[in-house]
Amino acid sequence: MAEEKQTKFDVIVIGAGPGGMTAALYASRANLSVLMLDRGIYGGNLNNTATIENYTGFKSVKGPELAEKMYQGAVQFGAQYAYGTVQQLMVDGEWKKVATDMGETYQAKVVVIATGSSQRHLGVDGEEEYGGRGVSYCAVCDGAFFKDQHVVVVGGGDSAVEEGTYLAGLASKVSILVRKDHLRAQPVLQEQAKQHQNIEFIFNTSVTKINGDDKKVQSVDTVNNQTHEKGQMQTDGVFIYVGSVPMTKPFAGLGILDNQGWVKTDSLMRTSVPGIFAIGDVRETPLRQVATAVGDGAIAGQQLYHYLQGK
Ligand code: NAP
Repeated sequence: MAEEKQTKFDVIVIGAGPGGMTAALYASRANLSVLMLDRGIYGGNLNNTATIENYTGFKSVKGPELAEKMYQGAVQFGAQYAYGTVQQLMVDGEWKKVATDMGETYQAKVVVIATGSSQRHLGVDGEEEYGGRGVSYCAVCDGAFFKDQHVVVVGGGDSAVEEGTYLAGLASKVSILVRKDHLRAQPVLQEQAKQHQNIEFIFNTSVTKINGDDKKVQSVDTVNNQTHEKGQMQTDGVFIYVGSVPMTKPFAGLGILDNQGWVKTDSLMRTSVPGIFAIGDVRETPLRQVATAVGDGAIAGQQLYHYLQGK
């Protein structure tokens, strides 16, 4: 007889990024039954990051390599991993029910929301039309398609500058278009970018439209935000890094989000719903890094144990 699939756990962690995997490690090491649910491969945004230089213990580590190490750590005490996009989180007394697009409903007394964030879209004409045909939000995934070509990067934060630097190793030229007259990125990332001769920064410039020939991107329309002068730049690809948006749609009805959609927690990672915790990038937090997500995951992993013990 086929073994019945386990659907009841002590803890369900939604999202298997660095925070989620850490919460799963702590909870399973405390002898709790733990399910990590993810809509894709474990690792979250680590899989879209070429190298990480600001995670303690590593001088430099490749994102997917760190994801694999974290996963091996997370499952060593019995935490399970399952594929599924969470569509709804429901509260039924002390139980929480998690429904996925795979038709499964899992139950646990504790849920840890660790769904992270996704790249914000620019919202200009041509962006959706040329998605996957020159418009990208992931240099690590798509950079190789632009070998020896000219690409535009939109944004001035850590992601734009870091990913622009990665692209400079592949593309012939990288133009980073920044809407203000200065970058927001950390100085160390700016310095690394400036060492690449094929990176140019174009300030006070916004992209207003992405143009193509119906097959792929050909150019972007721009405007100078100081002079209001309009322009056009020929390009083979457009990488958009204009911030992030929380992945919190399934949790909208629970009254735990702020007005921008991030999950509100206290310093112990507790939301206002008993037994629901939130950690990492999805949380209302001043810093979104691998290190902070891991720290959040450790706190939640310990606090949920106290919650289940009734302490
Ligand atoms: P971010 O810090 O929010 O920066 C977004 C950038 O996009 C800003 O320069 C912003 O310009 C610009 N922008 C926003 N809307 C725009 C628009 N409509 N048109 C043109 N530009 C626009 O986002 P992020 O760089 O993705 O970083 C997200 C988080 O991850 C941050 O907390 C960051 O520190 C972290 N992160 C860390 C690392 C690392 O430590 N190595 C790497 C990547 C990301 P303004 O400055 O004018 O607002």
